[in-house]
Amino acid sequence: MFSNKDIAQFAQLETPFYYYDLSLLQETLSSCAAAAKVYHFHVHYAMKANFNDTLLKKIRETGFGADCVSGNEVKKAIEMGFSAGQVVFAGVGKSDREINYALDQDIFCFNVESVQELEVINELALQKGKKVKVAIRINPNVDAHTHHNITTGLDENKFGVNSWDLPACAEMLKKCTALEFVGIHFHIGSQITNLDVYKNLCVRVNEFAQWFEERGYLVRVLNVGGGLGIDYHNPDQQIPDFEAYFKIFNDFLDVRSNQEVHFELGRALVGQSSSLISKVLYVKNGKKKNFIILDAGMTELMRPALYQAYHQIENISKKGQEVNFKYDVVGPICESTDCFGKEVALQETLRGDLIAIRSTGAYGEVMASHYNLRENVSVVFSEEN
Ligand SMILES: *Cc1c(COP(=O)(O)O)cnc(C)c1O
Repeated sequence: MFSNKDIAQFAQLETPFYYYDLSLLQETLSSCAAAAKVYHFHVHYAMKANFNDTLLKKIRETGFGADCVSGNEVKKAIEMGFSAGQVVFAGVGKSDREINYALDQDIFCFNVESVQELEVINELALQKGKKVKVAIRINPNVDAHTHHNITTGLDENKFGVNSWDLPACAEMLKKCTALEFVGIHFHIGSQITNLDVYKNLCVRVNEFAQWFEERGYLVRVLNVGGGLGIDYHNPDQQIPDFEAYFKIFNDFLDVRSNQEVHFELGRALVGQSSSLISKVLYVKNGKKKNFIILDAGMTELMRPALYQAYHQIENISKKGQEVNFKYDVVGPICESTDCFGKEVALQETLRGDLIAIRSTGAYGEVMASHYNLRENVSVVFSEEN
């Protein structure tokens, strides 16, 4: 919810811009940290969700580690002051250059996604005379019950080592003298709102941990990834239920005293703390529907075009007035998928009205592009109280 003061401030600024509510971000981070602490769980922030410096600084100050999926993310994490000992590095296609860089930084752990990657990391580590910690990212074939474009833990997905490749993986680990196996890693998808999914994951994690232990491997780290969803339909109900989330893992994972449980949360930590603020350029009456054309498009917020994501759309200039119109809310980009919502119920809307697209803190600003030679996306931060 925006105060009248916020709205008056927005009206003075050039649109479009991402507005970040830093107090809400802080509350969300503190809530997560407190809930994780109860069980001594380790949290790594999945940097790809949002790598804005101001946010990263707050996240680092909370004490979280960093979960990176590219060499440049590892670099950014180190530059932003995350301790290398709290950096994990996943990704199905790590290049030699990225691996070498991460080796030089002595990061906590590589989450390795194929048998061949084990071999390559081993060779590169040998060349540097280093010993390197690895966890095996396993594809557990657990359905995340989320949009198919953001599902990552099924047999048909490209991520992780499939169960049938685990014997080859164990063999390779034995041969690779530069590798130190520390544990197993999972990440089954994003925007997971049905917590039962995580119960199923726990059952699989327990089985895989046992599988490795039966073969003489000490599984010190159980990294269960991230994916906790947010409520895009209720952006004002803002802080995810971290307590319920962590409790599931406490209840269903077999954790021994010599084991650590690690998480990689992205969206849940940052998603609700931002809105994309945009202005209505034109209102156009079509034959069957009316269009609102915004000055923000898929170049600022790609999620709706990329995976039909829902974001709540509000006309904040007409706050409190009766909602009795329906519009398709679209951007200015020359693509038909450049549409933020169809048949959106709104107040009667006019050129110049401010439109807030809510819950854009995760996978928003970071996915912005220059397609159509668009400007860099601007950012505005709330004052902190
Ligand atoms: C993207 C990603 C995450 C975070 O996903 P969220 O849905 O944002 O929580 C965690 N781990 C890995 C390996 C990822 O690629």
